[in-house]
Amino acid sequence: MKKLFLILAFAGLCLSNAEAQKKIPHTYRLVGESKARRTEITLPQVKGYNVYKGDFHIHTTYSDGGVNPDSRVTEAWYDGLDIIAITDHYENRKGERNFFKVVAPYNEDGKPTKYLGGNAKNGIKADFNAIHNEAATKLEKSGIPMLLIKGCEMARNNNTHGHFNCLFLKDINTVYDPDMAKAFRKVKEQGGLIIHNHPGWRRKTSDKTEFHNQVYNEGLIDGVEVVNGLSFYPHIVRRCIDEKLAMFANTDIHSTTYANYGSIGLHRTMTLVLAKDLTEKAVKDAILKRRTIAYAGGSLIGEEEWLSEFLNAAVDCRLVRVDEKKGSRLFTITNMSSITYKLRRGKTVYTLEPFKTITYSFGKDKEKKKYLAPKFTIENMWHADFKHPVIELKLDK
Ligand SMILES: [Zn+2]
Ligand SMILES: [Zn+2]
Repeated sequence: MKKLFLILAFAGLCLSNAEAQKKIPHTYRLVGESKARRTEITLPQVKGYNVYKGDFHIHTTYSDGGVNPDSRVTEAWYDGLDIIAITDHYENRKGERNFFKVVAPYNEDGKPTKYLGGNAKNGIKADFNAIHNEAATKLEKSGIPMLLIKGCEMARNNNTHGHFNCLFLKDINTVYDPDMAKAFRKVKEQGGLIIHNHPGWRRKTSDKTEFHNQVYNEGLIDGVEVVNGLSFYPHIVRRCIDEKLAMFANTDIHSTTYANYGSIGLHRTMTLVLAKDLTEKAVKDAILKRRTIAYAGGSLIGEEEWLSEFLNAAVDCRLVRVDEKKGSRLFTITNMSSITYKLRRGKTVYTLEPFKTITYSFGKDKEKKKYLAPKFTIENMWHADFKHPVIELKLDK
């Protein structure tokens, strides 16, 4: 009897195990909701212009980058950008050479077909518009509201010529010329703009060369990178002001932006463009009228006027109390933007983080006996000659 009971109990156990097995799913999704989120960078409207976030210098696997055009679009969108230009090298196309190694057919003698890729001497021999179109297709399919600008990077010896980005092109393939100045003229014929990239890269100076003098004097250059990646070229700010050129901060990203910025807790380097709307025409107009601010490593670099307008639009300053006995006025200063500002008074620096308020008391001028205006040196803003601007905050706007 006892034996029979044990057999039945064992059978029951087997049955319940089998039943239980049936209930265990083959795939279980550990996280139910996993919708990707874009990082929003909230910036103010400045003098009636919207502030768009752009990166005008990006590489893909078609030149010497590690990410394809399709993923560059996704990456830029989640990084919070509004404008991008895929600007692969004309002359350095390591990626294309690597693809060729994989896909090239073998000759009858068993040797692989020779790679006949282009270079500065023999032309480009690749369809650069197709690179742009890959990114454009991604934008179209996804519906992501981002402006994609057609461009490329031209590069020669750093000590004589250097690198330049050609933007707002109609046909990237036809602007190439072994003579760089001739190529630039072709860019202009298409209505394109040219920016001088990383002028101090792999050089002991960021000063102009003979070639630079030639093309700048001819009016072929529209802007310069005052920042490339996280490298700041302070001398270039003065050049941009004196020669009326737009200032840019671009990533020149080859790897992923997460590896270069996100993983070390930095925002992506970008150019803030003050434009009427997010169209090619309005963005081009903003660049030509030099309404740009370089934003990199938490610093803002630009013309003093725009830095002042920008800060005053981003910060809300209010007079909340007047103490006639003490002769002081108390202000609240609220940061309504996603950028942190470093406000210095005397030797003390106050960090005004995004969406925070500080209170600050200003006394009277000892000689004039008048109340002092709320004025700070902005330590994370730079204008010409390696200087920080001193900005007076406008009251009760
Ligand atoms: Zn370059
Ligand atoms: Zn580059």
